[in-house]
Amino acid sequence: MDFNTNVLHAGQTPDPVTGSHVSPLYQTSTYVLPDFDRAVYLNQHIDQGFVYTRFGNPTVAELEKKIALLEHSEDAVAAGSGLGAISLAAISQLQAGDHIVFGDVIYGCTFALFTKILPKLGITYTIADTSKVDAVEAAVKENTKFVYVETPSNPTLKISDIAAISAMAHRHGAKVIVDSTFASPYLQNPLDLGADIVVHSATKYLCGHGTVLAGVVASTKEFIDHIRMPYLQCFGSVLSPHDAWLLMQGMKTLGIRMERHCKNAMKIAQHLEKHPKVDRVYYPGLESHPTHNIAKKQMRGYGGMMSVDIKGGVDAVRTVMNSVKIISLATSLGNVDSLIQHSPTMSHFDMTAKARHAVEIFDGQVRISVGIEDVDDLIADIDQALDKI
Ligand SMILES: *Cc1c(COP(=O)(O)O)cnc(C)c1O
Repeated sequence: MDFNTNVLHAGQTPDPVTGSHVSPLYQTSTYVLPDFDRAVYLNQHIDQGFVYTRFGNPTVAELEKKIALLEHSEDAVAAGSGLGAISLAAISQLQAGDHIVFGDVIYGCTFALFTKILPKLGITYTIADTSKVDAVEAAVKENTKFVYVETPSNPTLKISDIAAISAMAHRHGAKVIVDSTFASPYLQNPLDLGADIVVHSATKYLCGHGTVLAGVVASTKEFIDHIRMPYLQCFGSVLSPHDAWLLMQGMKTLGIRMERHCKNAMKIAQHLEKHPKVDRVYYPGLESHPTHNIAKKQMRGYGGMMSVDIKGGVDAVRTVMNSVKIISLATSLGNVDSLIQHSPTMSHFDMTAKARHAVEIFDGQVRISVGIEDVDDLIADIDQALDKI
């Protein structure tokens, strides 16, 4: 079965008790255990049944199975947010004395986790341009535990070659974690390309409607088991059953949403590339994008995210962001409706101006999460806002 059939039907059976077509929501914190001996057994073997929702929940388990299916992995684990998933994937592999390598353009709070929190635990890091395999290899050391790659990256949509980085990292005995949030499993499967672990902020495209915060990690059963016990259970960053259930409703339309996101974004990128008030458009589907060829090789489409350098810097940005009518001024991304944010002062304010400019996050740069609206309405909205500059 292909993607759209799989996401709707794989592993899906009507509820055996009521026949309910949509899977029931198991909104419970605990489970009544049949007798004393079984209670003792299950409390000591929490992977064998449901005991307490921090250890496992049927609704969350159903979501995890679907994620594993979409990412072609043996198993997956859900967390209460994308950062919850990223910190589990990272910290579960590390101890004092280890080293990590990560990309120079990554999600702002992931950057803060790696540069502010992990060093306090005795973990050192090197930042590298992950779009260049040689640069990543130069950063890898004997004690490097993993290379962390965000592709497409936030916010400049830089693409990193997952297959080449994985082959290189494995030669050095390091694992590869890919944050594939911007692509979603519809457009790219990092594990098929050789990566060891894939993480998503499921808050974004997987959910698609802006209704939940959630994160997922997909990998081998051994790795996921190791995350569950002790890390997830002790950090407690579990996903609520209700959010897992909402997320699964959103995921049913992931394929058709992504197709529309890709189509709309391509049209807007092509339009803005020729716009007199625009300096530069960062969209991996454009041939002018520096890493377009890697995107073409490893993705099945170019996604709905883009950044745009507006002529006139922050003042021009302020005018545009205050003037858009259909597009909402909001952080986050991957929703059915379009959003616009200013990366330097919103998602990436944690970086110094010098560090931002070095990785092309310029002061006049806005990031647009292109929704599934009628694209001509979006173009008209952007044009009237640019006209106000
Ligand atoms: C949003 C985002 C995250 C963090 O996810 P949350 O669900 O907000 O915790 C991580 N990586 C990328 C690429 C993101 O866009």
